[in-house]
Amino acid sequence: MYIEDTIAAISTPPGVGGIAIIRVSGKNAIKIVAKIFEMKNKKNFVDAKSHRIYYGYIREIKSNKILDEVLVSVMKEPNTFTREDTVEINCHGGSVVAKKVLEEVIYVGARLAEPGEFTKRAFLNGRIDLVQAEAIIDIINAKTDNGLSVAVGQLEGGLSEQLKDIRKRILSLSAHLQAAVDFPEEEIEELKEENVEKELKDILFKIEGMLSTADIGKIVRDGLNTVIIGRPNVGKSSLLNAMVREKRAIVTEIPGTTRDIIEEYINIKGIPLKVIDTAGIRDTNDIIEKIGVKKSKELINNAELIILILDGSEEITENDRNIISLVKEKNTIVLINKTDLNVVIDYDYIENIFKENIVLEVSVKEGTGLEDLENAIYDMFYSGKVKINNDYLITNIRHKELLIRTGEEINQALTSLNEGMPMDMITIDLNNAIQSMGEILGLTVSEEIIDRIFRDFCLGK
Ligand code: GDP
Repeated sequence: MYIEDTIAAISTPPGVGGIAIIRVSGKNAIKIVAKIFEMKNKKNFVDAKSHRIYYGYIREIKSNKILDEVLVSVMKEPNTFTREDTVEINCHGGSVVAKKVLEEVIYVGARLAEPGEFTKRAFLNGRIDLVQAEAIIDIINAKTDNGLSVAVGQLEGGLSEQLKDIRKRILSLSAHLQAAVDFPEEEIEELKEENVEKELKDILFKIEGMLSTADIGKIVRDGLNTVIIGRPNVGKSSLLNAMVREKRAIVTEIPGTTRDIIEEYINIKGIPLKVIDTAGIRDTNDIIEKIGVKKSKELINNAELIILILDGSEEITENDRNIISLVKEKNTIVLINKTDLNVVIDYDYIENIFKENIVLEVSVKEGTGLEDLENAIYDMFYSGKVKINNDYLITNIRHKELLIRTGEEINQALTSLNEGMPMDMITIDLNNAIQSMGEILGLTVSEEIIDRIFRDFCLGK
């Protein structure tokens, strides 16, 4: 793959900071920057040595004015992120100055990069596979240390190796079967039916092993969708505040909402709990409140974990019953709050309804029982379910779906084999499986899918 033009973007976040970095990549990157970069040592930037950083000024062509004092690093291909010549201009981190420098780079011949285009080039130029490229988004978006280390492992190629290995085994089996079809007179030992069956089953076992990590993997990557629910005044905000105070991971704004709704990521022993905080909504005007109510119903339906809070110091109300009926079939942890007060709630009634669920007595005010809550969440998602192996963890839904498809194709091959179908029929199933595995790694994937993946990146990455 050879890409003609040179791209540029500001790679640091928008806003004001110490420095901003304008990244330029492509075969003319050095020549382009040389037109506007005056090196302090009076040499020409075109002759700059690779993997060095140079000091000087960016001068605006039209006005002939100095735009900023900068440090410019040069990295010549192939040892760069994109595998193309790459120049990074470190200028002062004001939003005007970075934008002016970028405009100047574009004025002298670069094109504004699309989101993720640097990483896309790294992929198209063969430096990383698609799984590794996706790991880069996950590193940027990681919610917890755990999520970060899984993503870094994937960028290092741990998961890719596993996937490549599966693909290679299917490929080799398919090649052998094809050879048997093409050269029927030659006896190929490993192609005895029982050997083929064993290998197919082994491959299937491996795929199923990987798939069994996908539920946890998704949570590690995206967080566990959690809703804290209960009638007014039971202590929802107090609980959220208590958890956030100790365990806040990050806060993000939910795209598409007008204001006041944020996602809180709370780190519970490495599990990122994604709690939608609608607390700010309550005190504002009616319209927003309506958005809040509609949104909360939607949230219950999408939630993977519901924390229901009841006020232990009061009798159960009609409102409590309504909420209970909404959540009783879901994955719910029930908290009987305010146990520092006189507990009058009908405990038997609750135990009866939530037979299968965990019911905990807490006092958010005094902080009692909150550790039990953490342990309950942890146990729910870790113990007994799967062993976490960072190399194997399937965190990405795209990988999961393609692995499922590969598994189905291998299963199909097994069925064909058992039904005594001719070997070339089995090769067809295997070739489909090879195709699916190739799609995960980006070896055989449509441009549309590639574009969709890289669109999720930020500008300048
Ligand atoms: P929300 O409407 O469900 O979000 O409830 P809040 O978190 O705003 O709490 C309502 C009231 O209950 C506040 O005055 C809290 O201080 C109080 N509260 C919350 N948790 C406890 C608790 O464990 N014990 C006691 N005694 N009061 C609590």
